[in-house]
Amino acid sequence: MRRPLDRLPKAHLHLHFTGSMRHSTLIELAREQGVHLPDALVQDWPPQLHATDERGWFRFQRLYDIARSVLRRPSDVYRLVREAAEDEAREGSRWLEIQVDPSGYASRFGGLTETLELALDAARLASVATGVGVAVIVAANRTRHPLDARTLARLAAQYADKGVVGFGLSNDERRGRARDFDAAFRIAKRAGLLAVPHGGELLGAASVAECVDDLGADRVGHGVRAAESPRLMERLADRQITCEVCPLSNVGLGVARGPEDVPLRRLFEAGVPIALGADDPLLFGARLLPQYELARDVYGFSDAELAELARQSIRSSTAPEPVRKEIIADIDAWLAS
Ligand SMILES: [Zn+2]
Repeated sequence: MRRPLDRLPKAHLHLHFTGSMRHSTLIELAREQGVHLPDALVQDWPPQLHATDERGWFRFQRLYDIARSVLRRPSDVYRLVREAAEDEAREGSRWLEIQVDPSGYASRFGGLTETLELALDAARLASVATGVGVAVIVAANRTRHPLDARTLARLAAQYADKGVVGFGLSNDERRGRARDFDAAFRIAKRAGLLAVPHGGELLGAASVAECVDDLGADRVGHGVRAAESPRLMERLADRQITCEVCPLSNVGLGVARGPEDVPLRRLFEAGVPIALGADDPLLFGARLLPQYELARDVYGFSDAELAELARQSIRSSTAPEPVRKEIIADIDAWLAS
């Protein structure tokens, strides 16, 4: 008998702010605010994307910007985070680290600091309402100037003991080398934040290695292409650097041809810690649970292995020690049931 995966306690460590929005909420807010949505976000949703070329990535970003444009009022932000936390709870997730780039909303909410405070307050309230721990990762954008990233890192550092737990780097890996952002990551790490840059999604193992060597990555967003290098996988395993693997994002963006091409099994077997994530359910049509279902149905993970994946997600998280202990005990109970 297969144990129900929605009852398996887990952590979700790779989820973007706008990308976490429920599709139904996007439709509703767009209607309310008179925002015209392209077919790809309405009847043809979820969109077919081929982000492996520049044009495809541009289209992905454009859809993302349209979705972001419906978040206009503070109440929209509170709603988005609360609904995300509710969806986490429904899928058995007990700890969420949500990634936000405040510069995408700063003009709307009165500045970078105000935007971050709004996101943190929304996270706090969502946590109380749902029982899911919600923490915030501030993410800089690789396609912008490294000085912008430094500004964000300093801001994130100021909120290090007020709900911000990590510092990330997102957007097109092919534009902007990781090492150009090393100063920003030094600021973040000095403040005790986890370094969680994206790498090894659109580019290969060398890009993952750069995140580790130049940015001091504690986790790598995606990192799946580390599987192209046995030596790199060995290093990740030795140093317990987690890959936040988002299989259905890789498929949705055309990074992998199909789910069977995502090297989850290879990474797991090499001892690389893994935290499954959804990345942008709004654009890929799947939240966290389907990633675990895929691990079972496509990669052949047994219940014991699925429990280990869940444990790895918790161990890789910033959840406080008592919370981790409690969740790990509940994972063991799930497996023993
Ligand atoms: Zn991502």
